[in-house]
Amino acid sequence: MPHHSPTPPVPGKPPEPGNPPEPGNPPTPGKPPKGVADIQFIGNATLLIRYGDLTLLTDPNFLHRGQRAHLGYGLVSRRVTEPALDVTELPHGDLDAVVLSHLHGDHFDRVARRGLDRGLPFITTPHGSRLLKGLYGFRRAAGLHTWQRYTVYRGDSTVRVTALPGRHAPGSARFLLPPVMGSLL
Ligand SMILES: [Zn+2]
Repeated sequence: MPHHSPTPPVPGKPPEPGNPPEPGNPPTPGKPPKGVADIQFIGNATLLIRYGDLTLLTDPNFLHRGQRAHLGYGLVSRRVTEPALDVTELPHGDLDAVVLSHLHGDHFDRVARRGLDRGLPFITTPHGSRLLKGLYGFRRAAGLHTWQRYTVYRGDSTVRVTALPGRHAPGSARFLLPPVMGSLL
């Protein structure tokens, strides 16, 4: 039976970019292999997505367990789990944009609001962007109508966000709640 052994590395030849990591050739920390998105689940709808040179955050919720999210009309929702990361542990210098489905207390809370840079672009609904800019000073918030696109760049990496139709609640309850969008990345 022939004996197979791993191909030895060619001396002096650097690994080609885009190849899957090999033993002894770990990927750069924080940067996934080319063409691969690395997604960290923080809790609720909050994800930290790394793709190439880009780092995106979705629906930032950083309340701690037991704290209450305010949902309007006196409704509150108490957080039952701790987020996987504290807002201070985010890679703030790497963040390129926040994708926000809607501006509502259980998708964007006061801890996130205080902890995020005011110059960070938010890609969200027109309703959300108006309030983010006018009320909270996130000056680069952008409001997308359904099917509109927003492109985020860094280095050689590009992510296009397309706003998708979304509905917050069934029936007439949706008229009492903030408008919502889906997003295709
Ligand atoms: Zn909501």
